[in-house]
This record gives sequence, structure tokens and C-alpha cells, in this order.
Amino acid sequence: MDNEKKRSASFSKGLLQSGELYQYVLETNVYPREPELLKELRDMTATHPRAIMATAPDAGQLIAMLLKLINAKRTIEVGVFTGYSLLLTALTIPEDGKIVAIDMNREAYEIGLPVIRKAGVENKIEFIESEALPVLDQLLGDPGNENGFDFAFIDADKINYWKYHERLMKLVKVGGIVVYDNTLWAGSVAMPEECTPEILREGRQRTLEFNKLLAADPRVEISLAPLGDGITICRRMH
Ligand code: SAH
Ligand code: CA
Repeated sequence: MDNEKKRSASFSKGLLQSGELYQYVLETNVYPREPELLKELRDMTATHPRAIMATAPDAGQLIAMLLKLINAKRTIEVGVFTGYSLLLTALTIPEDGKIVAIDMNREAYEIGLPVIRKAGVENKIEFIESEALPVLDQLLGDPGNENGFDFAFIDADKINYWKYHERLMKLVKVGGIVVYDNTLWAGSVAMPEECTPEILREGRQRTLEFNKLLAADPRVEISLAPLGDGITICRRMH
């Protein structure tokens, strides 16, 4: 594998041409603006064996801006982990905003919960410990939820991304936004399969399929922003 490939195969967040460039963006634009408690949650998560899963702060910064731009009030979060993107959302939406946050594992959420409480935003969060798909279906069972959400952030099992998308196209209103995380899968989407490290292959395949479906979906406008591990922003058009 040449150096370029090796670099993109690394699991460090950030897909820019050099780690230094990514560090520059973080240090000049992202970290100085990151809310104190969000930083605290990020630091607490750093020692977690699965810390790599947390949303990248540069991607988080764009997510916060999107939430503000559309005045998001009701949101859905699929994949909470220790709560970086959840706290970010809770800090950004208004006092009467609500987040339905779904994760099948509550343990990691418990790690971030004291910081969420300290931030005084727990009241905005309805955490549901469950597989995400049945919860989304349950939400859809109530007609009041149709077009009832402004925003969703999807960051859980990639195999179900398209199934989530189908549900979100009903739950999120026209003009609302859905953001999908990890849509560049450590850069592997652009690697020949035979050069792709084994550990990335399955996710690479799923990501390729999902990105293709999304690109062909007339219901949404899309933009794949190469922040963090790649986030695809979808705006529901109809
Ligand atoms: N957004 C988080 C990171 C999420 S990591 C942050 O900013 O830190 C992915 C999470 O998805 C994990 O916590 C995992 O438990 C959860 N997950 C995986 N498959 C899931 C499923 N089918 N339903 C619900 N949650 C799932
Ligand atoms: Ca992620």
C-alpha cells in the first residue's frame, strides 16, 4: 500500500490531506468555539475503548449550525454512545426543544449523563434504550409524528441506514434535515477493494451502497461534507 492509501486507512478522524491540516482546523476554528461542557464530555470519552465512535468535533460544529439555520426544535438522534452529538444538539435547540434519542445500549450514555445534567439540558432529552428501527416504526404509528420532526442525526448501525432513511422521509418534515455520519468510512469508499484493510471492507461496501441510493433519491437534496469521517446532509424536498 502506498502512503496515501495507508493514510486514508488510518482510523484517525479527519480525511484531509494531512493530519496537520486537520489539527489546524480543529485548533483554530473548532476547539476555541466548543462549549465547555461539550469539551468535558469529549475529554471523558477519550479514554473509552470505543472513543473513535464519538462524533468528530468539526462535524459537530456544522451540525450545530444546521440546527440553528433551520430553527430545529424537535429532533431524532439514532446512536447516542456517550452523548457528544446529543449534548451538542441539546445545547443548540431552544429551551422547549425535544430530542428523541435512541441507543440499544444505555451504558455509554450513562457516562455522559452527568455532564448533560450539569449543562441543564436533560429535560430536552427522551432517551430510549432500544434498537432504533422499532422505535422509528412506533413513532410512525402515531400520525401526529408524521412530518413532526425538524432534524435527525443518524449515527448507528450502517447496515440499517437505508431503512432509517425510509422512515425519516416520513418523520422529518419537508424542508427538514437528516444528517448521516461516517459516509466516507475512513476514506475507504475511494480505495480499491483489494487495498482496503479487512476491518473496513464490510462497512465500505455498505457505505458505497448507501451513498449510491442516497445520490439517486429524488426526495432529498444532498451534500456530502468531508468533515470528521464524512457526513451527508440531506434536505427533504418533498
Ligand atoms: N453519535 C454518537 C456516536 C454513536 S456510536 C456520539 O456523538 O458519540 C454508535 C452507537 O449506535 C453505539 O452507541 C451503539 O450502541 C448504537 N447502535 C448500534 N446499532 C444500533 C441499533 N440497531 N439501534 C440503536 N442503536 C444502535
Ligand atoms: Ca459516527
